[in-house]
Amino acid sequence: MQTPADLAEALIRRIEERGPIPVADYMEAANGCYYASHDPFGVKGDFITSPEISQMFGEMIGIWCADLWTRSRARTVHYVELGPGRGTLAADAIRTMAALGHHPQVHFVETSPVLRKLQKERLPDAIWHDGIETLPTDAPLIIVANEFFDALPYRQYIKTYSGWRERAVGYGDEGFAPVPGPSPAEDRVPEHLHDAVAGSIYETSPAGLAIGNALARRITRQGGALLAIDYGHENYDAGDTLQALNAHAYADVFSNPGANDLTAHVDFTALGQAGHLGGARIEGPVSQSYFLGTMGIAARAAALGRHHPDRGDEIGAAYHRLTDEEEMGTLFRAMAMLSPKWPKAAGFEVTV
Ligand code: SAH
Repeated sequence: MQTPADLAEALIRRIEERGPIPVADYMEAANGCYYASHDPFGVKGDFITSPEISQMFGEMIGIWCADLWTRSRARTVHYVELGPGRGTLAADAIRTMAALGHHPQVHFVETSPVLRKLQKERLPDAIWHDGIETLPTDAPLIIVANEFFDALPYRQYIKTYSGWRERAVGYGDEGFAPVPGPSPAEDRVPEHLHDAVAGSIYETSPAGLAIGNALARRITRQGGALLAIDYGHENYDAGDTLQALNAHAYADVFSNPGANDLTAHVDFTALGQAGHLGGARIEGPVSQSYFLGTMGIAARAAALGRHHPDRGDEIGAAYHRLTDEEEMGTLFRAMAMLSPKWPKAAGFEVTV
């Protein structure tokens, strides 16, 4: 298994031999090492995600899937999750779907061996995939992705006094540091940004958009839907959102590659366009608070509180953390891609 120290050595060698590496390659190598080596979730880990905060999150998604499946009238459906983490969301969603009479085959797209092991403890009968290419083609797919697209490699471009350049990572006395790449990159940046002030940064995730587009094509062809929940923005113009998290605190993106979680905000407008180009109908994005609210999380919190009076404070705190504006309610968004032949999804009546 590659440790962050091994990774740093390999990156330094590569930079010395071939020059600075694009931010996207750095992010891919760093996150590959990070997720392959440990379980990053929870109080003792580096960050906590919605399904780890409360079972209510996965339950609302289970209701969303079951409702859509029922109204689609599809006989069989595969449940697919991209980057399922500890498998908590899937376990809560599948249990909820079963209670509503639906029993899908479960498919996980996961690269980390450590997380695959944890997922297997929760859902032993799941089928694992290294990428989306091997997902089944024989039935509609209902695909769920929570905090998946933010972890994929992002390309960054920086405006210098001599024009736009791809942002890269070099190595010097101070360690790893961002540097502008050598070749002009005007053609990679939207035209209205060509005259942006020096220091401006433009970012995009071709890897994420390619996955969104390919899955949209799949669900257009074979039926189904994709639900993406992540932190991000719409109508992104310019700005650097790349961040590193370690032990619930922000860390330096360019220090200790492989030891921190690197993410960037998801550009929902671009992801929606990639899905639209793949033939899918797009619903949302809406705020996480709106989505969960429409799916009935308040009633579920109240019912859980009645069943577990001793856990009332904890359930209330989780509800607020998932839905309050200043917590995860607004920054996180939900967006769906649907097969044009499938009915409208629940949860997306208005846009934010
Ligand atoms: N959905 C989970 C975990 C989010 S963290 C939750 O909400 O708790 C990101 C997840 O994506 C991890 O499971 C990580 O191993 C996985 N991942 C990251 N890059 C990936 C890639 N390129 N292909 C497949 N899985 C990836």
